[in-house]
Amino acid sequence: MKILIVEDEQKTRAYLRKGFEEAGFTVDAVERGEDAFQVIADSHHDLIILDVMLPGLDGWAIVSGMRAGGDETPVLMLTARDQVQDRVRGLELGADDYLVKPFAFSELLARVRTVLRRGPARQPDILKIADLEINIARMRASRAGRRLDLTPREFALLSLFGRRTGEVLSRTFIAEHVWDMNFDSESNVVDVHIRRLRAKLDDPFDVKLIHTVRGMGYVLEESR
Ligand code: CA
Repeated sequence: MKILIVEDEQKTRAYLRKGFEEAGFTVDAVERGEDAFQVIADSHHDLIILDVMLPGLDGWAIVSGMRAGGDETPVLMLTARDQVQDRVRGLELGADDYLVKPFAFSELLARVRTVLRRGPARQPDILKIADLEINIARMRASRAGRRLDLTPREFALLSLFGRRTGEVLSRTFIAEHVWDMNFDSESNVVDVHIRRLRAKLDDPFDVKLIHTVRGMGYVLEESR
C-alpha cells in the first residue's frame, strides 16, 4: 500500500512518514499543494492524507481538482479543531474522511485502514432504503415505484438523510448541509421542510421512514 502525505509542517510530515513506514506502508510526502498536484498526476497512491491549510494551493483546491478530473483516490483530510465548516466543505468536495488535529497516530492509522477497506468507490448514484429509491444523479426519488414530486430543497434534504441512513441528524447539521448556513435556534425552517417532505414521503405509506428523535433531531430508517 502506497500513501501520499501532503503536509507543510515539517515535524508533522516526518512524524507521519515514520509512523506509516513502521506500519508497513510505502510513503511519499510533499510539502506544497502545487507539488502534490504534480505527484498525484504522475503516480498512483492508494490513499492521500491531505492537510487543509497549506500555503498556496490548499487542501480544498487539491481534492476538488482531483474529483473534477475523475481521480477517485481516497482522501483523508486533516483539519484544525475550530474549522467545522471546513470539514463539511471537504467532505462535500469529495474527501472520504477527515481527522481533527491534534490526533493520536493510532487513530489516524485506524481511519486510514477503514477508508482503504472501503475502497475508492464513491457514494452510489442510487440509494435504496426499504421501498424508497433515491437517484442522486437524476434528482429523482420514488417509493414502491411511485415517483415522489419533490422540490429541489426537499430532494436535497432527502438525499442528506439517504446518505446517512440510520444516523440521527440534528437541526443544526441539516441546516448547515441543506441551506449552507446556520439558523438561530428559534427558527423552525428545518422542521417546516421536514413536515413537507414527510407529507410526500411518508403520509401516503404505511411504513414511515423519517422518525423524530426527541431533543436530538431526525433519522431516516426503516424502523425505529
Ligand atoms: Ca498546515
